[in-house]
Amino acid sequence: MMTRSIDRLFIGGEFVAPHGTEQLELENPATGDVITRVTLADEVDAARAVAAARAAFEDYSRASLSTRQEYLQRIHDAMARRLDELIDIVGTEFGAPQWFTKFAVQDALGHWRIAKEQVRPETFRYPLGAGTQIVLEPVGVAGLICPWNIGLWFMCVKTSTALAAGCAVVIKPSELSARQNDAMAEIFAEAKLPPGLINVLNGTGDVVGDAITRSPGVDKISFTGSTGVGKRIMRTAADTMKRVTLELGGKSPLIVVDDADSTRAVAFALLVGFQNSGQSCTAATRVLIPASRRDELLAALKAGVEAMKVGPATDPGSAIGPMVSRKQFERVQRYIQTGIEEGARVLTGGPGRPAGLENGNFVRPTVFVDVDAAMTIAREEIFGPVLCVITYTDDADAIRIANDSIYGLHAYVAGTDVARAEGIAARLQAGRVAINGFVDEPRAPFGGFKQSGVGREFGRFGLEAFLEPKAIFTG
Ligand code: NDP
Repeated sequence: MMTRSIDRLFIGGEFVAPHGTEQLELENPATGDVITRVTLADEVDAARAVAAARAAFEDYSRASLSTRQEYLQRIHDAMARRLDELIDIVGTEFGAPQWFTKFAVQDALGHWRIAKEQVRPETFRYPLGAGTQIVLEPVGVAGLICPWNIGLWFMCVKTSTALAAGCAVVIKPSELSARQNDAMAEIFAEAKLPPGLINVLNGTGDVVGDAITRSPGVDKISFTGSTGVGKRIMRTAADTMKRVTLELGGKSPLIVVDDADSTRAVAFALLVGFQNSGQSCTAATRVLIPASRRDELLAALKAGVEAMKVGPATDPGSAIGPMVSRKQFERVQRYIQTGIEEGARVLTGGPGRPAGLENGNFVRPTVFVDVDAAMTIAREEIFGPVLCVITYTDDADAIRIANDSIYGLHAYVAGTDVARAEGIAARLQAGRVAINGFVDEPRAPFGGFKQSGVGREFGRFGLEAFLEPKAIFTG
């Protein structure tokens, strides 16, 4: 494949040359070949983008709700026309298996439609008692800072919601998603929106992300990424009292209840444990099993993991793809090594690459057993296909172990008696709990308890995060 150069930013409704000069090379994660050379934005570009968004916000914040709907529809339609191409781009750049990429890109498209549905007059203005009106105004210019684990999806979720609320945006996607970022910028250009309503900057977090977070011209930051960076953003944003929504890391538990059907429970564990090749903040990476059924469940888990095919996005049979970058591959390898050094036993997988996949950033799907809840691999987010199995004695012990984490993004329960599983779910400290499977309800709030974040995305909660309530009293 030819190396593509991306040396343009989308600012003020047009593609412009970056003021920044730093270059970055991106590799195909499945082969290690350099596929993209990207020129990065700097603080000057960030300031131009913020100024363009500020100017656009003046008109857009006063535009009719039907105008907001029309823009959302136009972006939806422009994206729908390029769906197959976007699926290819994500596969090449990010490496996720085809079935997952298709799901993610289609889901991203759906968010433009859902955002449009949310633009209803009664959401933005309603009476409350005699002589009182509640008005929800757009918060202003929103800085949207996204991670790489399907960058395109995060851009769509955050931008669609911000636009539905009446905000103008500056997007700082991950520079590892440069091709996705550029394709989405083309889609925004095709939608013929007012100049500056959406601006897209390829740039690093410590330069462009930080400039946006500091800028007095930005009113709100919506960030998805690691807890460490989230804390830094919250501190920096405090200087200008920006509103922040932070979607951060996780170390989600799956409790397999002692009445669970082992086949169903293991299928669920594989689905939620290895989702997005483990590069998912919601991955169920702590599998809690009852001591009474240990041997049977471990045998089923080992067989299930060993049947999962690791391979490139181009192979339709791949269940687990490569890590996004060499850096991420090495990070996962370090954690596998730490697990071994701390005394956990490898049930399957281990260090290194799977046989026959020596070139890309492929990891052997790994399951650790005899894991103590105090070990590094049981506490820190690995962000790769690595599961830790921890045994428990009874339901109360399982709940205690599940909640013994700084994180609280997601939790999972597998069990036959649904009322009992729901009772366990009620006691878990997590923004979402899935019992026996996934129900894909894109309007349900998404976000974390504890250090998994601040605020929620999706649906009504997500929209309100871009709105500022105002009470008007008429005497
Ligand atoms: P990072 O936190 O490193 O980066 C996320 C984004 O923030 C990137 O665009 C990054 O830019 C930017 N950034 C970095 N430093 C700063 C800064 N000082 N100011 C402003 N922006 C900054 O996460 P990754 O991209 O590596 O993604 C993986 C992490 O994200 C995982 O730990 C995972 O848990 C978390 N995550 C959470 C999700 C959730 O919804 N809760 C979903 C997906 C991921 P740059 O790329 O240049 O560093």
